[in-house]
Amino acid sequence: MHGVGPWSGGAVPYHFEPALLQEAGAKGTDCRNWSQWRAGSAKQACQAMDEWTRVSGVRFVPDAKRLDSVSIVRGGATTGTMGRLPAGNRVTIEPGVTYGSVLHEFGHVLGLMHEHQRPDRDDYLRLEPFLTGLLQRCTFLTEVCRDVRLSFPKVGVRAKTAYDPCSLMHYLANQAPRHPQDKRWAHIFTLTNKGQGRLKTCQGQFAALPARCRKVGQKCAVSKSDAELVRRFNGVVG
Ligand SMILES: [Zn+2]
Repeated sequence: MHGVGPWSGGAVPYHFEPALLQEAGAKGTDCRNWSQWRAGSAKQACQAMDEWTRVSGVRFVPDAKRLDSVSIVRGGATTGTMGRLPAGNRVTIEPGVTYGSVLHEFGHVLGLMHEHQRPDRDDYLRLEPFLTGLLQRCTFLTEVCRDVRLSFPKVGVRAKTAYDPCSLMHYLANQAPRHPQDKRWAHIFTLTNKGQGRLKTCQGQFAALPARCRKVGQKCAVSKSDAELVRRFNGVVG
């Protein structure tokens, strides 16, 4: 989280692109009564914000006027900016994307980087050689290189928490949907013995969820460690 700004006191202003609210059949401009809305991006966003509030205590406050208000908009990809920026905080949601992906992007907004980009990640996973090769060689910006540069280098200061293969912010070993033209993306890393050990320890917290949620790269739920980091980073008290 080096260089990333926190949301002071854990209060995050947000507003919606009007088209998303219309699509949802929302009466107002905020998340009130979202559970009764039509399925879609706005409903997913409100559900994700409610979930982060439940697990971490951060609050999302409707406020379109503030310069740092998070705009929730439709996009060609699903993305989120990192932490609080003085202006231009944004979550874009691709129509049809899963709820777990939206929950993940709000993790970025709350200051979380990808777990697999931690500086100590090599102790817990082994990236496939084609990917380490791309990491070293990507000098010009093809779409693949842009992705590799953004989502795979080690970044940030060493976290004080244990490496968390159960994190919502960890990628799945199979990233094939990102680059369907290249079969190698179907397997981009293997957990080391140490990584497997951590997974065994953390997966119990999702015992009540389907099996796909108890593996590395789950996009089901916020892990305990994710919630703790968000609380600490944003100074949520109580
Ligand atoms: Zn991400």
